[in-house]
Amino acid sequence: MEHCPFCAKEISRSVFAKSENFYAIYNIAPVFPGHSLIIPKEHATSILDFSESRLTEMTLFAGNVTRLLLRVFKTEGFNWSVQDNETAGQTIAHVHFHIVPRKEGDLSVPGDWYPMIQDNAGEILDSIFRDKLDSGQMDKIVAHLRKESRKDGLFY
Ligand SMILES: [Zn+2]
Repeated sequence: MEHCPFCAKEISRSVFAKSENFYAIYNIAPVFPGHSLIIPKEHATSILDFSESRLTEMTLFAGNVTRLLLRVFKTEGFNWSVQDNETAGQTIAHVHFHIVPRKEGDLSVPGDWYPMIQDNAGEILDSIFRDKLDSGQMDKIVAHLRKESRKDGLFY
């Protein structure tokens, strides 16, 4: 779809794992280290438009990617989140499923992470509330995650 940041060619730079119909991408402005997104390769606005097999694929893939992130970022805790529809705070009209690894003490109140994931429609998941990685940092993290995901058979 035109002007959709997740349909833009540049998104391939952020991809570190793939399934048949989904990509895992690293967030340029992570809330916490490891903050990644599962997005469908084809433009789709709502997860409710997915078939049962597509939903299953997304969930299994998200589980595998989460295991990879927890290993790489050395933790056991994580948050999963989807904002579906503008009324729920979806600012980019292309399904994106947040995976946020968590560590003990990363917030004084563990539930306070949610406002931090507010997207910013202008730039790919950049946010006025958090720092953006420079392209060198981003490339380094993505390269490392690709290497790890090959071990798991998630990058081809
Ligand atoms: Zn799109």
